[in-house]
Amino acid sequence: MSIQVKGVTKNYGSQKALDNVSFEVPSGQIVGFLGPNGAGKSTMMKIITGYLPATSGTVMVCGLEVGKNNQEVRRKIGYLPEHNPLYVDMYVAEYLMFVADIYKLGNKKERVEEIIAMTGLTAERHKKIGSLSKGYRQRVGLAQALLPDPEVLILDEPTTGLDPNQIVEVRNLIRQLGKEKTVLLSTHIMQEVQAICERVIIINRGTLVANEKSDNLEHRLKQNQQKVFVEYDRKIAPEKLNAISGVVEVMPKDNGWLVTAKADEDIRPALFKLAVDNDLIILTLTVEHQSLEEVFHSLTS
Ligand code: ADP
Ligand code: MG
Repeated sequence: MSIQVKGVTKNYGSQKALDNVSFEVPSGQIVGFLGPNGAGKSTMMKIITGYLPATSGTVMVCGLEVGKNNQEVRRKIGYLPEHNPLYVDMYVAEYLMFVADIYKLGNKKERVEEIIAMTGLTAERHKKIGSLSKGYRQRVGLAQALLPDPEVLILDEPTTGLDPNQIVEVRNLIRQLGKEKTVLLSTHIMQEVQAICERVIIINRGTLVANEKSDNLEHRLKQNQQKVFVEYDRKIAPEKLNAISGVVEVMPKDNGWLVTAKADEDIRPALFKLAVDNDLIILTLTVEHQSLEEVFHSLTS
């Protein structure tokens, strides 16, 4: 296990930001840390990286207890904080050399060159950080996190504020990094998890509400319900759909109906039979997949 969080609680004065949170992140996975704004994601990440002490509970990173040997722990971790603080008056390569100095890296020059190439900053290396677009600043933030070749990467909302093209680029970079490293990345964007994470941990108001494989989460709510969209060539009274065994809800949608039914009975044959009995033609019949967004919504609202 790369990260082990056990019973972590964090109080800011009288406000409880994290309440007895426990989870583990296995080595070599990209794990999404998901939750609405104010859920406690950044607080958890600051505690994992040793920048903030927990009120109670323990965190282990690569077998080392955070808070006991912070210098050693920080050498294992690359951290991209939420607002990506950078020295805007420094030049890209100069800044990375400065960070390499702080880490006391032996092979500074080569390492900085390697990271500049890896994060796609070659053309920007002589520019002032302050003159870079948000996407490139984010790359510089990733570059400083990667410099000491950490085993674990903690990325706090790495794609927030980027335009769609930059989001794709940064995601690709993270995906590539995830092949070798353990990555915990926070986001409030469900599609991001779908796009790059193998596992997802969801917190809401400081409490853990889900911790599972991304695919499993999609099936989670489908276990007790199915939704079928049906469109006939003519109008049909919703009562007829409601009368089908197992149907719990019938809602108008586009030119047809969204029919919700208990999962244990496939209602499609009944929808077909309804067409035959009423001399209707089926134009569309599709099973609606529960989106991760709906799962997120149902777990956090
Ligand atoms: P997230 O990153 O999921 O948006 P945060 O960890 O930033 O959530 O915040 C969790 C809660 O703790 C929020 O209600 C926030 O207002 C509060 N909080 C965060 N940092 C502080 C702080 N330094 N002092 C007081 N309250 C804080
Ligand atoms: Mg945050």
